[in-house]
Amino acid sequence: MQSFNVHYFDGKSSVPKSVTLELHEDFVRIAELNFAYEFKDIEIRAKLKNTPQSVSFSDGSYCELGADDFFCINNQDKVILKLESKIKYAALSFAVLCLFVLFCLTYGATMAANMIAPQIPKTAVEKMSVQTLEFFDKYYMSESKIDKTKQDFIKRRFNMLLNKNSDLNLHFRSSEFFGANAFALPNGDIVLFDDLVEIEKDSEFRGIIGVLAHESGHVAHLHGLKMLVKSSISSALIGYLTGDFSGFITSFSTLMVEAKYSRSHENEADLYAIKVLKKNNISTAYMADLFDEIAKKHKLSDNTTLKSILSSHPLIEERIEQLRK
Ligand SMILES: [Zn+2]
Repeated sequence: MQSFNVHYFDGKSSVPKSVTLELHEDFVRIAELNFAYEFKDIEIRAKLKNTPQSVSFSDGSYCELGADDFFCINNQDKVILKLESKIKYAALSFAVLCLFVLFCLTYGATMAANMIAPQIPKTAVEKMSVQTLEFFDKYYMSESKIDKTKQDFIKRRFNMLLNKNSDLNLHFRSSEFFGANAFALPNGDIVLFDDLVEIEKDSEFRGIIGVLAHESGHVAHLHGLKMLVKSSISSALIGYLTGDFSGFITSFSTLMVEAKYSRSHENEADLYAIKVLKKNNISTAYMADLFDEIAKKHKLSDNTTLKSILSSHPLIEERIEQLRK
């Protein structure tokens, strides 16, 4: 049995009593007062640098040990208390934790997203995409006002371009919320908005075809799914660290509304589009012209209210340059 000479405070008076604290197998005892406490009724405070260690009891009383004494009730506590008592170790563990979190949120999440996204079952991808389209149709989009012959022309050209890739399905919609834009859902549903079609000056809609090829690139490279996995990992990790999981319960539709694809995803989708356009002998200049037209409109509207493909696809100058090359 270990024993320590300690200062005992009864929680009512500030005058300490010098007593002996005995450490038994599964309880502690204050010898002079004949008080005994089970381990579950005591709390041991870490010894920080030169401050004395204290042990509090469930009845509100506590005792302070001598500066050189060290009290713990099992081996695991011994290690933890020793580590906590050393500021250097505490700071080092904190730094390691920060680095680990940073890694998980960046490279770790990207690596995991690249591995997990292709494994998501097709039925789940289909269900999630259909629900997202329904959600947008209910709150943000309405039927397209582009005339049917124009729609059929664009659809035909798009289908020719992608070699009957049956997974892709083009939908026309009108939307103030999305403006002059287009987006792709992971199941291959691509939505093209009226405002973008109306900006196009080429009679054969080759700029639009370029944008649709770019959106197909997002589908082919599973960008939507990767974004979803990555954001779920970040929310789960932040939720775990802060104890708040409300951010984790987010639907894909909200993610699509708020998020922008990363720079590398945009690049990959552009390269995909350039390859497809080249294969079909369509100049990428039409796509660059379309972006130029949109950028002009942005300047005229002071860049504040106009919603367009530029809001969800940043770095437009760089991209126009790449397309012109
Ligand atoms: Zn994009």
